[in-house]
Amino acid sequence: MISIDNVTVGYGTVGFITAVDQVSLTIGDNEIVGIAGESGSGKSTLMRAIYGDFSTGLGIKSGTIAGRFTDAASDQTIEKPSSQFRDLWWDQISYIPQGSMSVLNPLMKIEQQVVDGLPKRERGGSRKDLRARIAKFLAGFGLEENVLDAYPHQLSGGMRQRVLVAIAAFVNPRLILADEPTTALDVVVQKKILLMMVEIQRRLQNTLVLVSHDLGVHYQITDRLVIMYKGKIVEAGRTADIFANPQHDYTRNLIASLPRLHGQRAVDRVGAGA
Ligand code: ADP
Ligand code: MG
Repeated sequence: MISIDNVTVGYGTVGFITAVDQVSLTIGDNEIVGIAGESGSGKSTLMRAIYGDFSTGLGIKSGTIAGRFTDAASDQTIEKPSSQFRDLWWDQISYIPQGSMSVLNPLMKIEQQVVDGLPKRERGGSRKDLRARIAKFLAGFGLEENVLDAYPHQLSGGMRQRVLVAIAAFVNPRLILADEPTTALDVVVQKKILLMMVEIQRRLQNTLVLVSHDLGVHYQITDRLVIMYKGKIVEAGRTADIFANPQHDYTRNLIASLPRLHGQRAVDRVGAGA
């Protein structure tokens, strides 16, 4: 679905600060890919480059990022570089940016924000029907209809984050990019939201790319894992394999510093239909 080929990404118009250095990665259909690494290792930059948001001084210096999507309506295959993904946003591709609590407009009720985020094809029909469809969808995330009438500050952090995940999933995108979607939340709420994300991915059979600095999160829900260190991918493979047999010193230290992981992984529980 996404091919990242030897890409170097950075910032700046005068000088160039390299944030992601000669990275290659293939992201397939129907999988959860995790990106881990310490703060400043380039995770968010890589996500922005995949999403194709070059509005913030971000640029690809060399290499390519390309995507391949099947348009559900026409069954046509769309192939293009990420610099041209813009017209796929909130259609084929959803993005939950880091610190996304602040993405919600504090002056606007949730219903309007959800509706504004939808592609045209979802906005046909009456507003009442659309509201009913959205409410039904939110119910699947444990959110009551009256959430739609609330302003963001009237919701807890966990509820706001559920709203964002729900908006991202509502359009049935082929690719969801989620950058630290649960980091600011307490552990119990975090667990619920992660489980919800796995369930959505399994149901939509799409691709979820999840950034977290927390290896425990990756252990719980990712199929494959990429470890970044100082802008480079230092290790990549099946999550279970990486935890069983980490190759790189940096990964070994990360895993050693975790509280002991035990129990069945959340992905396996969902996969088993529990
Ligand atoms: P992570 O998400 O892993 O914490 P980032 O991708 O945010 O890492 O940052 C990687 C590097 O890019 C860091 O050195 C950071 O300072 C730099 N960087 C991030 N955003 C910008 C920006 N908007 N302008 C300039 N440098 C940036
Ligand atoms: Mg980041």
